[in-house]
Amino acid sequence: MKVPFLDLALHHEPLLPEIRRAFDEVIASNAFAGGRFVDQFDREFAEFSGARHSLGVGNGTDALWAALLAVGVKPGDEVITVSTTFMATVEAITHCGARPVFVDVDERTYTMDPTLVEAAVTDKTRAIVPVHLFGQPADMDPILAIAKKHGLAVVEDACQAHGARYKDRPVGTLGDAGCFSFYPGKNLGAFGEAGGVITNRDDVADFVRLFRDHGQRKKYDHVLDGWNARMDGLQAVVLSIKLKHLARSNELRRQHAATYDELLRELPVIRPVVADYALPVFHIYAIRVDHRDAVLAAMGEAGVACGIHYPVPVHRMKAYEHLNVPAGSLPVAEKCADGFLSLPMFPELTEPQLRRVATVLAEVLAAQPAPARPAQV
Ligand SMILES: *Cc1c(COP(=O)(O)O)cnc(C)c1O
Repeated sequence: MKVPFLDLALHHEPLLPEIRRAFDEVIASNAFAGGRFVDQFDREFAEFSGARHSLGVGNGTDALWAALLAVGVKPGDEVITVSTTFMATVEAITHCGARPVFVDVDERTYTMDPTLVEAAVTDKTRAIVPVHLFGQPADMDPILAIAKKHGLAVVEDACQAHGARYKDRPVGTLGDAGCFSFYPGKNLGAFGEAGGVITNRDDVADFVRLFRDHGQRKKYDHVLDGWNARMDGLQAVVLSIKLKHLARSNELRRQHAATYDELLRELPVIRPVVADYALPVFHIYAIRVDHRDAVLAAMGEAGVACGIHYPVPVHRMKAYEHLNVPAGSLPVAEKCADGFLSLPMFPELTEPQLRRVATVLAEVLAAQPAPARPAQV
């Protein structure tokens, strides 16, 4: 039995007739770039997220960049974030002309360690960008308290956390703005590139609404230096249709995570920890193992497709050499990157597939040299 990492075709299959009808409607109306289908999705996603505003944009990277600009991040500012994330979190900061300042992550949740944040604040700090990695919210209350004390904005990178909750509050609404990616493989994914910013701040919404459309208040009346960051109408209708299934899909992901947790209990791996404040959405189910690269290759050979999110922490990328982050200054980020292994995770996974993953993993681990047993954190 082969187990894919993600089976999008299976997810889309029952939705295709409805999506094709919606495409016909978009084609007939010429609302391809921005327009009424995007406005419609924005209303639906705002309601789903419990946010006052939602603004569809071109992708998650645009969402982060626009949100940071909206909260006033300027050249020369510093923005505190984590290195255990996808590159885009940090690109959004540098493309504002600001300097990313990394703090380490908590070893249990892989999200920003709030106890390290205050020491990173300087008189140049303008914002904090926590990342709800793998679909688990960062510990937001202490981060928000530090932001309030120092007058900083908080922009949540919720690109992996559609529908996740922190102390029963929806992610993306906890800080000044929340940013989502609707890349096809995300928990809510388009048929191409798309993203969104949600916010309860009217001024942030006004900025993003203008920014995404070349700063136009109306046609050829450009009131700010914006960008082309519009969402496509075709993507918006896909998202409207798929949004109706998101809560159920997230529930299935949580059930699969619970099944994995049970099946992997006796194996020499570190399983994901769900923080007591979190309702996670398991965009990724990442374990940590010794001999990770060998384990990944052997799993693939046995027909179980796994991944790594992410093999190199962002501060160690060549692109950020010039930041001169001292070696060893983010020990948890480095250690986790060496051990991360993402198991297949998608709503349509079956019980036999979950069992197959666990069986193959057990065999693969037993065949490794000196199978050390990492302690569950
Ligand atoms: C996917 C992702 C992004 C970027 O989103 P795109 O839509 O690919 O631009 C940013 N941050 C995180 C954590 C992501 O997973």
